Amino acid sequence: MSLFKRLFNAVKSDSVSASDWDEIRSNLIESDLGVKLVDEVIAIAKKSKPDDAQGAITEVINGWLSSKSRELKYEANTLNTILLVGVNGTGKTTTTAKIANHLTQKDFKVTLAAADTFRAAATEQLQTWGERLGIPVVAGKTNSDPAAVSFEAVSVANAAKSDYLIVDTAGRLHTKQGLMDELGKVVRVIEKQSKIAEILLVVDATTGQNGITQARTFIDAIGVTGFVISKLDGSAKGGIAIAIEKETGLPIKFIGTGESIDDLATFDANSYLDSLFL
Ligand code: GDP
Repeated sequence: MSLFKRLFNAVKSDSVSASDWDEIRSNLIESDLGVKLVDEVIAIAKKSKPDDAQGAITEVINGWLSSKSRELKYEANTLNTILLVGVNGTGKTTTTAKIANHLTQKDFKVTLAAADTFRAAATEQLQTWGERLGIPVVAGKTNSDPAAVSFEAVSVANAAKSDYLIVDTAGRLHTKQGLMDELGKVVRVIEKQSKIAEILLVVDATTGQNGITQARTFIDAIGVTGFVISKLDGSAKGGIAIAIEKETGLPIKFIGTGESIDDLATFDANSYLDSLFL
């Protein structure tokens, strides 16, 4: 997987010319880092190590990445609830199943909640994944109250002594405020009976800088503990990962690399930085 366009043959040589820096700039812009951050990284890098673009850029970007833990929170002997939130179509339902698979492979006991009750297809999709993975899926009728589904799911997960409950939430309502109010209600209902370990915002890498706006909205409205960047397969838009961490200080916990259940990877900052110059 190449998260960046094959960046800079130029930086491998000892001296970096003005046109090399131009090439670096346009490649970083294409990677969706955002013009403001691209200009910032180049200005700092040129000043600190004018002859070593690779070293300088890696250093600056490393300093921008979140220093918070990228592991999913886990407390033994209790239910750890994870909420997947995000705009419709970003990959929440798929990512819910992928994380369930990831945790099951680590021998955790998982229950799923299909709380995207506005989309019948989401519930069906999750039920199909649940059957395949052999894990229970708590669902409600189409258009039923997502908070009620979540409430029931916590009871089911507790009764099953699950380690994790993963809740797939809706991404679209008539208004943004309506969606945030609904999600707020889901959060409050769950918190009454179980700790929320994580609220993960799924951001589609191909939507570019829009992802930053989405992050701000969800952080302000319901709080977010980390990100999943989906659809990084076959995309050279890896810059969004830097931008989102720099702008929010929150960690990316996973990246989505395809449509299958196994297409999920933990986010490894070191290999990510290496991929800048592959
Ligand atoms: P939701 O509306 O947020 O629940 O989104 P879905 O989980 O239904 O996903 C929307 C579409 O994106 C589906 O066609 C998924 O197969 C696809 N998708 C999800 N994650 C990825 C990914 O990491 N890579 C690719 N290529 N497609 C993905």
